[in-house]
Amino acid sequence: MAAVFDIVELTRALIKCPSVTPADAGALDVLQRVLEGLDFVCYRLPFGVDGPEKVDNLYARLGTRSPKFCYAGHTDVVPTGHVKDWSHAPFEASVEDGLIYGRGAVDMKGAIAAFLGAVERFQKQLSASAKRVPGSISLLLTGDEEGAAINGTKKMLDWLIARGETFDHCLVGEPTNPEQLGDMIKIGRRGSLNARVTVKGVQGHVAYSDGVVSPVHRLVKLLSALESHPLDGGTEDFEPSNLEITSIDIGNEATNIIPPSADARFNIRFNDCHDGASLSKWIRGLCDFYAKDYDLDIDVSGEAFLTSPGKLSDIVSAAVAKVTGSIPILSTSGGTSDARFIKDVCPVVEFGLISRTMHKVDECVAISDLELLSDIYLTILDQYFLKVRK
Ligand SMILES: [Zn+2]
Repeated sequence: MAAVFDIVELTRALIKCPSVTPADAGALDVLQRVLEGLDFVCYRLPFGVDGPEKVDNLYARLGTRSPKFCYAGHTDVVPTGHVKDWSHAPFEASVEDGLIYGRGAVDMKGAIAAFLGAVERFQKQLSASAKRVPGSISLLLTGDEEGAAINGTKKMLDWLIARGETFDHCLVGEPTNPEQLGDMIKIGRRGSLNARVTVKGVQGHVAYSDGVVSPVHRLVKLLSALESHPLDGGTEDFEPSNLEITSIDIGNEATNIIPPSADARFNIRFNDCHDGASLSKWIRGLCDFYAKDYDLDIDVSGEAFLTSPGKLSDIVSAAVAKVTGSIPILSTSGGTSDARFIKDVCPVVEFGLISRTMHKVDECVAISDLELLSDIYLTILDQYFLKVRK
């Protein structure tokens, strides 16, 4: 099979598509052309109402047999921030001193290109000995990971389940390494809960406070109770759960008015000692006690999950160690990812590029890291299809 692409050029072609979430800007077309060149069957899965918020997604599959390996990723990127702060324009994909600059370079267009490079080489190895892929490889590529994540992976999985398709194992290519390729594999993530509470009082004059109820005093006591209560001490696999107050909004310009309401928002990153329902109950209990009259909105954007160390993490760790010489840490740190949806379907771990520049000005990837990651992914495919037989 002739080479259908070069991973550096594919990374650059993807970066040149300004796919700021939820825009696609041609990124999935670039990947579909490459995947079809590698004999994948491709399905475009747009979800959401027509208009600028509509999200395009791509599911690609090679083979139907077991074991079924899935690689998941996203082509959308976060906004650039002030373009003038970038030393290289964020969508030009310029190369300097062995680095490719651009939004999405490490999170995570480069990783997708590295995986496709691994698949191409894997197929070449097999065709040299007249063999087919001993199972199936699929790619779950969404354009809605950095945004609301409503019309992406979650709906793609629903579509797949309705068709009776599943995976045995999944690797997500998010940037997991803090400093060097080989540092860290993620085997789970903490959950995330956002809450907004509006405490209601009775407006009045500060000098005539009889019969006036200050919502500010109640809010302060509520927030103090929320913030000072240790949620847990962490577990063997997770750091302690953490609550952060993100905003307090009263908007009272006057110096002589007790305002009618006071509003605050907070976020909890929680481990598997809790779930969204148990935390919601705890929050509501404190609100009943301290705020008394209030409105409360809670949004649990992901539950905590853990893929217990086992076959999949062993294969990924061994591949990382073989290629880089370092034994990766198995971690559950950091923010959430689409692995929170995939964990309901099959065991999932995450390994990708270096996270240091992700979401920042001058996001960039070293060409040598792209090549190393592609070698790791190839080793994972080799080992997976050798070791996981059904
Ligand atoms: Zn990402």
